Amino acid sequence: MTEQADVAIVGGGFTGAALACALADGRRRIVVFEARRTPSARFAGELLHPTRLGVFDDALLTRLRRRGADVLGFAVVPEPGRPATLLPYRAASPDAPLGLGIEHAVLVEELRRAAAERPGVELRFGARAEVTYHEGRAIGVRTGEGDRVNADLVLGAEGRHSPLRAQLGLPAATRLVSFTAALRVRKAELPHAGFGHVLLGAPGPILAYPIGPGDVRMCFDLASNPHLPSVPARLRAQYAPAVPEPLRSAMLRSLDGDGEELQLVANHAVRTTGCVAPGVALVGDAGGCAHPLTAAGMSVCLNDVQVLADELARSRPSVAALRRFELRRYRFARTRETLTDALYELVSHTGECGPALRGALFNYWRSARARSASIALLSGEDSSSLALGREWSRVLVGAATLVARGASGPRVAALGDLLAFTGARFRRMLHAHD
Ligand SMILES: Cc1cc2nc3c(=O)[nH]c(=O)nc-3n(C[C@H](O)[C@H](O)[C@H](O)COP(=O)(O)OP(=O)(O)OC[C@H]3O[C@@H](n4cnc5c(N)ncnc54)[C@H](O)[C@@H]3O)c2cc1C
Repeated sequence: MTEQADVAIVGGGFTGAALACALADGRRRIVVFEARRTPSARFAGELLHPTRLGVFDDALLTRLRRRGADVLGFAVVPEPGRPATLLPYRAASPDAPLGLGIEHAVLVEELRRAAAERPGVELRFGARAEVTYHEGRAIGVRTGEGDRVNADLVLGAEGRHSPLRAQLGLPAATRLVSFTAALRVRKAELPHAGFGHVLLGAPGPILAYPIGPGDVRMCFDLASNPHLPSVPARLRAQYAPAVPEPLRSAMLRSLDGDGEELQLVANHAVRTTGCVAPGVALVGDAGGCAHPLTAAGMSVCLNDVQVLADELARSRPSVAALRRFELRRYRFARTRETLTDALYELVSHTGECGPALRGALFNYWRSARARSASIALLSGEDSSSLALGREWSRVLVGAATLVARGASGPRVAALGDLLAFTGARFRRMLHAHD
């Protein structure tokens, strides 16, 4: 028998559960299909910027904050022993709410619970779903167990490797950027309490942020394909020296544990140019994602949820409404992707101009205006591609000055490398926004 619903959501992870919460209005019937029977223990995003947390209602946000930790902004350390540059969220806007650090499994558990409590929402677990079509339009979903649900709108929230994206013929460029070794560190103290830290000076950037009372998550970026058993030794030898005390000792203690605290995850960048088709939209990572350095992934997911809820509050899920969603979500997502790519390349650049690029970034941050503009862009408070281009140009001009002064070694080699770096980045930026 075919059931009837208003919205069928494929994927009950972070985005799917957040969608169900936001779209439940007491009138819509919403069915969420989640392939897994049991909660996933796989590491995924845990640091949420404040800008899109308003998608959650107050009661839900209070529940999440109770099980996580407040985040005040970013602290970026250029190299071991040097002071951090602080980028508090409140530098972008004095009444900005705080961000949130929370274990991913706990976050999803709370969102699913909140969704299930909403009238009209049903979550089905162990239900791998695929979309059904009639005359080129998505009309619902079916599962391997024989469930069939017809719906006015199907939302694909199946994550970055979305099979639905391929099924719809929506092009995607997928790049394996690096790997994250994620370590939970208990009884840990961050140099700047409450801040998400980016520590440079190791072979890859390290991200460390609070996820609960006394608990810190450390994410180590590994460029080459690592073999998990060799990772602890690599972290001890190459990354620990870039971690300030007392966090370093706590990190080493966690690495000495039984290994349960360490996970390895691949970081992909997925760039799409379209995410809707008649009767269906891709939402969250299914619509694209970037490297986790700027912790922007879930803000993009929540922005998708917010924009979609807004469009559906105004009209039926017509092709025109879905196209408006698509246009509005890319305006936000593109700036996040471009900023993340640019920053990741800057902090990891191993060519001759690398020291000048990083030196220029920290010089640029000496100005309060620059710190305010940067945290506005990082947190998604400002999603203008023009602002991003303007601030990025300032850093590049600063890098050229440092190269000219010989601060990055032999001038000719460093200048050639800077020109190549700049040219490649601007071509990517123009391509991303065309
Ligand atoms: C290493 C790493 C660190 C990150 N750190 C951050 C961070 O600090 N801050 C941040 O904002 N973001 C971060 N992110 C990004 C963040 O994790 C993602 O943006 C977010 O998890 C995406 O949620 P999603 O629900 O769209 O996809 P997923 O989390 O992948 O969920 C997809 C769900 O769909 C289900 N599913 C798949 N196929 C089907 C099907 N056919 N039928 C039914 N169910 C299906 C899956 O079982 C899964 O539950 C990070 C990502 C990585 C990889």
